[in-house]
Amino acid sequence: MPDPVALRITDLVKRYPTGTEALRGVSLEIGAGQFFGLLGPNGAGKSTLIHCTTGLASPTSGAISVFGHDAIDGYAEARAAVGLAPQDLNIDQFLTVAETLDYHGGYFGMRRADRRERTKELLDAFSLTAKKDDRTRTLSGGMKRRLILARALMHRPRLLILDEPTAGVDVELRLELWHYVQRINAEGTTILLTTHYLEEAEQLCDRIAFINDGQIVAQGSSAELAARYGVSGLEDAYLELVGRKELSRGLVA
Ligand code: ADP
Repeated sequence: MPDPVALRITDLVKRYPTGTEALRGVSLEIGAGQFFGLLGPNGAGKSTLIHCTTGLASPTSGAISVFGHDAIDGYAEARAAVGLAPQDLNIDQFLTVAETLDYHGGYFGMRRADRRERTKELLDAFSLTAKKDDRTRTLSGGMKRRLILARALMHRPRLLILDEPTAGVDVELRLELWHYVQRINAEGTTILLTTHYLEEAEQLCDRIAFINDGQIVAQGSSAELAARYGVSGLEDAYLELVGRKELSRGLVA
């Protein structure tokens, strides 16, 4: 039977050598198939949590498992189950669009024929086929975002992590990306999203956790979180969390 938990984080502590305790006993469970939002102010620990999950940082204590594979003892299996679309557009400028996908597949041990087939499928799904032989540096911002999503999905991860995918993008591209990620989720991929846009989380996520100062301080659906703080929407719940309820839009004249 497949493990119904996509990501299980237990008592995770991360103390950097500088002494900063970025995560202070975080526990979290993301069910398979969920669209999960992780929200919190800058410095709350979101990137650290993602880095620990993808092996870019090592936890000080606690445990992480991805679809039942321990992130340390079962690193290869756990890592293979995760696709990461990072915040920065970290694409190799000298590769073509198709090579970007192919090399990523190679890194994850996919066979040549499978890489070729999967590349074709993703180029098509993300409307990049006409650009397949173009160098990535010639792509527009929107195409780069789509390529980063396609690359994250190349090795067929069951958990996709989107780290602020719509930071600084225009309205059309934001909505376009929403359509893509919603479809990916509907097709069965579990999603962990971090974002500063509360309406984005409200629209996309079926479950949301607030993280503040290295701790999960509240969790639930957008409606549950609003009810918990006795307010009408996610943004006001968030403002309660960060102690800035005087900023509520309801109070803007
Ligand atoms: P977020 O992604 O929510 O903005 P981060 O995980 O980046 O938060 O940061 C959490 C805390 O850890 C912050 O105080 C930040 O300064 C600190 N931090 C992040 N990365 C490092 C690092 N490599 N070395 C030392 N401190 C770090």
